[in-house]
Amino acid sequence: MHTKSLSELSAALHSGEITSVELTQHYIDRIKTHNDTINAFITLTEESAIEQARAADIQLQNKTAGKLTGIPLAHKDIFCTEGIRTSCASKMLDNFIAPYNATVVEKLNQAGMVTLGKTNMDEFAMGSSNETSFYGPVKNPWGTDRVPGGSSGGSAAAIAARLAPIATGTDTGGSIRQPASLCNLTGLKPTYGRISRYGMIAFASSLDQAGPMAHSAEDAALLLNVMAGFDERDSTSLEREVPDYSTTLNDSLEGLRIGLPKEFFSEGLDPKVAEVVNAAIKIYESLGATVKEITLPNSDLAVPTYYVVAPAECSSNLSRMDGVRFGHRCEDPKDLNDLYERSRGEGFGEEVKRRIMIGTYALSAGYYDAYYLKAQKCRRLISDDFKQAFNDVDVIMGPTTPTTAFKLGDKTDDPVAMYLADIYTISTNLAGLPGMSIPAGFVDGLPVGLQLIGNYFEESRLLNIAHRYQQVTDWHQQTPENFK
Ligand code: GLN
Repeated sequence: MHTKSLSELSAALHSGEITSVELTQHYIDRIKTHNDTINAFITLTEESAIEQARAADIQLQNKTAGKLTGIPLAHKDIFCTEGIRTSCASKMLDNFIAPYNATVVEKLNQAGMVTLGKTNMDEFAMGSSNETSFYGPVKNPWGTDRVPGGSSGGSAAAIAARLAPIATGTDTGGSIRQPASLCNLTGLKPTYGRISRYGMIAFASSLDQAGPMAHSAEDAALLLNVMAGFDERDSTSLEREVPDYSTTLNDSLEGLRIGLPKEFFSEGLDPKVAEVVNAAIKIYESLGATVKEITLPNSDLAVPTYYVVAPAECSSNLSRMDGVRFGHRCEDPKDLNDLYERSRGEGFGEEVKRRIMIGTYALSAGYYDAYYLKAQKCRRLISDDFKQAFNDVDVIMGPTTPTTAFKLGDKTDDPVAMYLADIYTISTNLAGLPGMSIPAGFVDGLPVGLQLIGNYFEESRLLNIAHRYQQVTDWHQQTPENFK
């Protein structure tokens, strides 16, 4: 059961071959067996899952069920889930029970999906390895001494180990695509504004975007169909029609113009990863695409720009966590300042504090022009590079990450080395463009992702490009040895 696609699961549920309660129980049992090894889940919602599954079974019997009714999924613990702990993997929110559902959660509930639990992540989505979680690191199912990537590492590990057929993630600088790449998954970060951010705990509001993490583009399309769309409760969500992403998956790639940015294939890219990526691009040529070298000349500004913009926004977003309204509160505060200082000092982890310090500094009166304003200008240059590139090509391809999954602990003492894990993914968020990572092969038993970047609102095209590749390859169907 746990190797089936969403369409296959849906068919099995609709034909009565299996009930949603049975399917849900199967996944819960798998989580109970394997979660101690990989630590992918922070919270397991067994009781409410069975309740949702029962309701789905009634709909299936009544023939009022939709395509996704009764199919289990996992939510990154950044999405508010009513009545369920929503921790963002921080001690600060360890005791926070969300009073409402994020729009994404609400929509997937409405579609009849069953929430298995909340997945582990880097604290407040800050990280590239899932090692900043208050609940301990997640292990990569492809090698349990390796990181799964971050920050959506719990969702990635859960799907890769087949503890959930699909999951939600969020991507501020690469957090869907990078763990998808390191765990052999298909992950899509849509255009900024495509999916509502309402009820998604904010990290850097001008960059954050939710998206599906799945085995295949076909599965991701089914989830995106439900997740996408305008929400009046999010002023940055866009009022724009949502196409049916499943109907264009098989479109021809004849004449597709692929651009390969030379900056993504230079120093720093592991040659073995490059080999896998180049082999994938050859397959696209055999499917009718043409390939051309392009340049994104301001690529080297992406990481430094991001590490001004993201901390600046997070320092402001996280100021609401002050020990007064919700979250962790210190014992016996002397006065108000003591309450703020100790609650925040005790509640936040090291990486979060580092970002708050950087962000507060960058936004302070004397430095605003030198850092934040400058970063905004660089951001424009980065967007303009893409605009220029999309005059000549339909899609940009390259590696998602410079290396395969690194060892746990390898980069924890060197924040800058950690920040460079997102060197190829960050510019997409700064420009607000959609990006994907798809399984493209293995190096020494560890997965390699191919990154696809599209023009604004080209999610359909990206899913189509990914799907055609997945019709002629089977990388995305592989399961790690100990989780079959
Ligand atoms: N790794 C990047 C960071 O640490 C991106 C995280 C994300 O996309 N949420 O900020």
